[in-house]
Amino acid sequence: MPNVEREADMYSRELNGQQDRHRHAVGPSHGQRLLVIDDDDVMRSGLVCRLKLDGYEVDDAADIMTAKRMLRERTYHVVMLELMIHPISGYELFEFMKDDPSLKWTPLIVLSGRNEMHDKVRCFYLGADDYVIKPFEYEELSARIYSLLQRTRTFEQMAFRDPLTGVYNRRFFDHQIQVELQRIDRYPAPISLVFIDIDRFKSINDTYGHSAGDLVLQGLAHLLQNNLRSTDLLARLGGEEFVVVLPNTSGKDALTTMESILTRTRLEPVAQNEGQSFFITFSAGVCEWEPGMSLEAWIAASDEGMYTAKKSGRNRVVLHPGTSQKDSGVMPSPPPVRKKILIADDDNILRSILVAKLKHLPVEFAEAVDGEKAYESLLSQPADLCILDGMMPLLDGYGMLERLRDRGTWPAGMKILILSGRSGEDDPSRGMKLGAHAYLRKPFSMVELELKVRELLNIG
Ligand code: GH3
Ligand code: MG
Ligand code: MG
Repeated sequence: MPNVEREADMYSRELNGQQDRHRHAVGPSHGQRLLVIDDDDVMRSGLVCRLKLDGYEVDDAADIMTAKRMLRERTYHVVMLELMIHPISGYELFEFMKDDPSLKWTPLIVLSGRNEMHDKVRCFYLGADDYVIKPFEYEELSARIYSLLQRTRTFEQMAFRDPLTGVYNRRFFDHQIQVELQRIDRYPAPISLVFIDIDRFKSINDTYGHSAGDLVLQGLAHLLQNNLRSTDLLARLGGEEFVVVLPNTSGKDALTTMESILTRTRLEPVAQNEGQSFFITFSAGVCEWEPGMSLEAWIAASDEGMYTAKKSGRNRVVLHPGTSQKDSGVMPSPPPVRKKILIADDDNILRSILVAKLKHLPVEFAEAVDGEKAYESLLSQPADLCILDGMMPLLDGYGMLERLRDRGTWPAGMKILILSGRSGEDDPSRGMKLGAHAYLRKPFSMVELELKVRELLNIG
């Protein structure tokens, strides 16, 4: 082979190699689904084969009616359309895609045997992203698809993602929630919406600085994303508020999902910075969509659920009943919330006396026999008040308070009433330094105890 030819051959092999390496490194075809619409069976199946070899997921349609059905059922990242197709012309598809909010952004490449300027111009005005004339080299079409996908991705990243957390932004949420409602109009299925707001987030910013607050936001976004399904939509609405749309999920199931995520946030720090672990809790409202419910009413109901969670003491998820129980547009008032008291004392008799003497109050009880058990109980079921024995085996009351404080797991708004021993071995001032609100020295009168409990729980 003469030198020049050998060089050209080497160059072309090198170029191919580079393209292959590039393609595999970037993996543009991964998870990308394409639709080929052409009534020429040979042409269509040949193209589908080549695209599949490149790693794309590919569907094909031989006519416009079938293509419309497929476009409604699945999400495609690029659509390739032969214009001269029977019995309905390919032009029909432009209108169809433009009118549908879920399809109007889908990139469309026209494949056409007509090299007429006026066809090209018409297609671009109608919304085509590219125009490829048949017969074409596969390599060229493949490069055009690649470039279109890259551009769409960059555009999506800029337009629809929140730069701090990487999750979707409000603009995308506003768009996608309409798409979801259209989908269930055609294929009825339960769907739920969740509003999430971090509890006392301002204090993280105030104590540790704004950049620590940013880490916490990123951490929560990450935790939520990792614990949701790929079909769920997570978006940051702004500030410390997130929203999740859960398709094919009843309100009750969405509540369970969110409660288990909330439990995780109590157990694991959402962020770490310079040796400091950040634990947070959030308040969330869940609402399942009901037929006939407007988008505005649905969003307002989830938001109201979140607000009820805040009012009931934060650190919880509330299922909103939706509009079915509203007759005149007036929300039923939430059922009275029973306050929770954890009694942590190793003295079994004293615990049962306390429960007997306080059970006429609108409260629920949990009990723990030592500091370890009390700590675990608070993580799984936060309390509004903890009546805590200073002296206990294993981990005593003060040790438990230290652990709550050091790990940042103090349940939002929880009050502490310390019962200190008669021996004077324990030191109530240590409890007060650790954030306790009141203490009673044993033996105490039950009247005195009830007054303290009422005062701390704000029960009149
Ligand atoms: P609540 O439990 O009632 O929700 O109390 P909160 O402190 O979480 O609520 P509030 O709405 O008073 O405070 C929200 C704070 O979120 C105020 C604002 O400074 C902070 N914030 C909003 N956006 C960002 C952000 O992008 N980064 C950081 N670090 N902080 C933000
Ligand atoms: Mg807020
Ligand atoms: Mg908040």
